[in-house]
Parts: sequence; C-alpha cells; structure tokens
Amino acid sequence: MKIAILSQQAALYSTKRLKESAEAKGHQVRVVDYLRCFMNITSHRPSIMYQGKPLNDIDAIIPRIGASKTFYGTAVVRQFEMMGVFTANESQAISRSRDKLRCLQILAREGIGLPVTGFAHSTKDIDGLIETVGGAPLVIKLLEGTQGIGVVLAETYQAATSVIEAFRGLDANILVQEFIKEAGGADLRCFVVNDKVIAAMRRQGAEGEFRSNLHRGGKADKIKLTPEERSTAVRAAKSMGLKVSGVDLLRSNHGPVVMEVNSSPGLEGIEAATDVDVAGKIIEYIEKNAATGKTRDRIP
Ligand code: ADP
Ligand code: GLU
Repeated sequence: MKIAILSQQAALYSTKRLKESAEAKGHQVRVVDYLRCFMNITSHRPSIMYQGKPLNDIDAIIPRIGASKTFYGTAVVRQFEMMGVFTANESQAISRSRDKLRCLQILAREGIGLPVTGFAHSTKDIDGLIETVGGAPLVIKLLEGTQGIGVVLAETYQAATSVIEAFRGLDANILVQEFIKEAGGADLRCFVVNDKVIAAMRRQGAEGEFRSNLHRGGKADKIKLTPEERSTAVRAAKSMGLKVSGVDLLRSNHGPVVMEVNSSPGLEGIEAATDVDVAGKIIEYIEKNAATGKTRDRIP
C-alpha cells in the first residue's frame, strides 16, 4: 500500500516509528506536512496538492494532527475522505474528541464514568458552579490548555473563587471538576486500536504534583488494567468514533473515570513503558481494514 502519515514533524518519534514499521511490512510511506498541502474542492474531482504535485495515489492516511492545527488538519483529512482514501482516524472523530466539552458531553450521554464536571464561560454564579462539583478541593481547567498547562488544583473555596474569577477575565471557557484525590497524582493511559486496548501504562506525576503528564516530569510504568478499566477505555474510544486513540483514566472511588480521549496519542512513552509494538499494531489495523472501506463515521 501507499501510506501517507500526516505529520508536521518527520523527526518525531511517533512519526518515525510509524514510517519504519509500515516500511518493514512492505508499504511505501510518505510523511506529508498537512499544513503545506492545499486543496482543490472542485465538484467531482477533489484533490490535494503537495510540493507542486497532486497526492492522488494514496491508499491510506495516518493523521497525526497537532492540537493547535485541528481546523486545517481535519479539513485535509476530510479531503482525503472525499477522495475515498482510508484514514486511520476519521476527521469527524478527530474534531469530536478535540472539543473537550463535546467529548465530555458525549461520554456522559453514553453513561461512561467521568469526574463530576461543570463548565462555564463567564457565569456570575461562581458559588453555584463550585457547588455543582461538590465544593473544594476542585480542579479548574482552561479548555484550550494541553499537556497539563492551565490545569489548577484549588484546595479551598477561596482559592477556587479567585482562580475562577481570574479565568473569567480571560474570556476563556473553563471547566470545573471534582478533584480525584485518591488517584494520587497518577493516571492510566490506555492505547486503543480498533476497539481493543493494546497497551496500557500508569503515569505518576513528579513528587508533590497532582498532574501526571510526562511533559511535567512524570514517570510511566506498564500496568495491568481491570476488566472495568479496559471496557471503559474501549467504550470511550468507540463513543468518539476513534480507531486509534489514547484514553486517559483516573482510578477514583467510584470506578474508572475518563479524563480525555486523544486522537494522536504519542508512541514513545507507551512503547518504552510496555514494550508493545504499538506502531506495528496501527499498521496491522490499516492493512486489515483499508481495502474494505469499513470505517464510515456514524456518530452524530
Ligand atoms: P491536559 O489535557 O492539559 O493534559 P488534563 O485535564 O489531562 O490536562 O489534566 C492533566 C493531569 O492532571 C491529568 O493527567 C491528571 O493526572 C491530573 N488531573 C486532571 N484533572 C483531575 C481531577 N479532576 N482530579 C485529579 N487529577 C486530575
Ligand atoms: N505526546 C503527548 C503525551 O503522550 C501528547 C499526546 C498525547 O497526550 O497522547 O502526553
């Protein structure tokens, strides 16, 4: 097959591993910087131009769209879909999961475990918002943040009020969440491919840090999930319509709760922690499904 990896950085571990793995299985691979593509949306003949030539012989794409490039990135993925090209993750599913509120709203509808969460833009009813999630301590998040930036733990009611007030002044969307103290600064990253958890790791935040992001100095270890955690991760991925995803869970007193579902999960941390050939599993998924054109997004 001819596979295009849509990635801005050919040198990234994840991109390199996917390329290597696909080549080892006999495929031709191109890394395409999707921001440098332009699209022709003429009726009946959709096409994509890259480096002065049309990309018209691609069988499958693997989107690795950066969080801040979701709008243009998903448009490029959609254009490939219009051309009948198989994609590891569909554009709609990527957009759905990137919108954190939409993601939480859908997970809630599906009855998937979530921390008690309120969201707001500029409500004056700060007390009401805090009470929604059961009071302090609570976690306040800026919706636009990634890698743990813009995630604040407010230990007291006063702290919560002043952080929410400060965020209100930023004209930002904010999310207020029950603090899952019992998670002990750890989360579970479940790597889901085609409705199966193929690898899982536990990430522990640095000493004194409630956020477990590896970018914030956390450590990761391989972990065995409980059947409930496994099914929660799979249901979360399915409800987003993602075929390749990283589902982050916290272990709470009321069972596993989903933090987020990532449509371009990094491979480096999970492969190192688990020794699973995650890149290989993604390529195998594409090999089995690209020809059949099976993935048609059906979730509203
Ligand atoms: P980002 O998307 O920026 O990584 P997250 O919402 O995933 O932000 O939060 C970063 C980390 O903070 C999580 O991985 C988790 O370890 C911790 N965390 C986030 N929300 C909560 C919460 N409600 N209770 C306990 N820990 C939390
Ligand atoms: N590579 C980063 C990480 O693993 C961001 C992508 C993701 O969250 O999956 O934390």
